[in-house]
Amino acid sequence: MSRILIVEDEERIASFIRKGLNANGFTTTVVGTGSEAVDHAITGGFELVLLDLGLPDTDGFDVLRRIRGSGVDVPVVILTARDGLRDTVTGLETGADDYVTKPFRFEELLARVRLRMRGERTTDTTVLHAGELALNLRTRRVTVDGDDVDLTAREFALLELLMRHPGQVLTRQQMLSHVWGYDHDPGSNVVDVFVRALRRKVGAHHIETVRGMGYRLTG
Ligand code: CA
Repeated sequence: MSRILIVEDEERIASFIRKGLNANGFTTTVVGTGSEAVDHAITGGFELVLLDLGLPDTDGFDVLRRIRGSGVDVPVVILTARDGLRDTVTGLETGADDYVTKPFRFEELLARVRLRMRGERTTDTTVLHAGELALNLRTRRVTVDGDDVDLTAREFALLELLMRHPGQVLTRQQMLSHVWGYDHDPGSNVVDVFVRALRRKVGAHHIETVRGMGYRLTG
């Protein structure tokens, strides 16, 4: 059975999430402080962590940094305020896998939870699929609806990154550090240039621009 750690100090929200997840077959543990969250995430064997950013003793970013700093790579979904765009970006850069904005419908949260858990289980597949896109990691072959597409090494790496995180917004910073490593100019628009080239080759509708944040792969 899948175990989920819920880090949320507001009892009303915590119980809303807990009841919903339990009803959908998940086992849950609720904690309300950052220090408990770190302890549980590191030692508890959870398959996913839902992390509120505003906690009484510390903030969610600190919790996330400490979890990642101890080498635990459990998927983390942060819960952010609707106007917390900067928080969302910081969260993703700190190592969160996804986010849900408050207030949210339970179905939205459940969809994110299922997506992230599925993502964990498919990390060693050879072919990544998204709609009519297929990317073969072994042969480095990319097809759109069965037709071969010629990509440069960077374009391939960028598409692979997007396809490994379907439906998730990736910031330019994340794309730069994954595809170009640290040897890049942070003010560079190279990501936008490559996204434009990729769109021409695989179909513009596959890569959605999320204003002020980055890009997202759509099936
Ligand atoms: Ca809170």
